Amino acid sequence: MVCAVLVWCLAVTIGIVAWANRAEPSAGAGPQSALPPGSTQPSQPVASSPGDAESVPEPDRSDRPSRDAPDEEDEGPVIPAAGSGTYVRQQQSAEPRTDSGLVITYDVRVEKGLPFDVDEVASTIHQILNDKRSWTGTGEWRFELVGPGEKADLHAYLATPKTTDKLCAPLLTGGEVSCRNGDKVVLNAKRWAFGAEAYGKDVTNYRRYLVNHEFGHALGFGHVDCPGEGKPAPIMMQQTKGLDGCKRNPWPAGNDDD
Ligand SMILES: [Zn+2]
Repeated sequence: MVCAVLVWCLAVTIGIVAWANRAEPSAGAGPQSALPPGSTQPSQPVASSPGDAESVPEPDRSDRPSRDAPDEEDEGPVIPAAGSGTYVRQQQSAEPRTDSGLVITYDVRVEKGLPFDVDEVASTIHQILNDKRSWTGTGEWRFELVGPGEKADLHAYLATPKTTDKLCAPLLTGGEVSCRNGDKVVLNAKRWAFGAEAYGKDVTNYRRYLVNHEFGHALGFGHVDCPGEGKPAPIMMQQTKGLDGCKRNPWPAGNDDD
């Protein structure tokens, strides 16, 4: 009897320890944003962690190059599952397109071996961030793409799924999703290429969502839920996971996706 009770106690103890250890790595305390001291914080930041990853649906442990669905076999680029962890950095610079707000400097790197031109990716990111429907539209921030040799507040990476996992660690991205980790904004090339279910084949708007969401973390914002059936999804909702009744919305300061 005593033996049986001891075994039971041990089992309960192990269970409690396992439960306590499963907390997400992003739940720890830390700086609210990756921005330098003195940076303006958003009016209602929710983030309390040094990094933010989307929840991981079903990790793909395959080393094969990925296309997201069988019916996309003849469409879109082939994304290698892993890369060398070396990058091509963008060369051009681009000024903010507005006059007010804190200037956030950033640069862009694309992992070697991916079928994306770094200058095109940098241009896309810059257009998104400087759109009046983006964070720029709040009047609190503006974004400057800085060239080689200049200091950047944030570093955007477009990386293979495996390298994304490394850059995001200890956040769990499972080869599937993207993250913001410290001053790194890590965009998973699989998502950049194929988007997510909520956006169907509209990769253009998924990319807008992805850039605005991950840079939003760097500005200090954390995740929020859908506020109600049929409402526009907040940009800090994890739209990659689904919409929970909300309508997709790729912008923080507007809700039209034309
Ligand atoms: Zn997020």
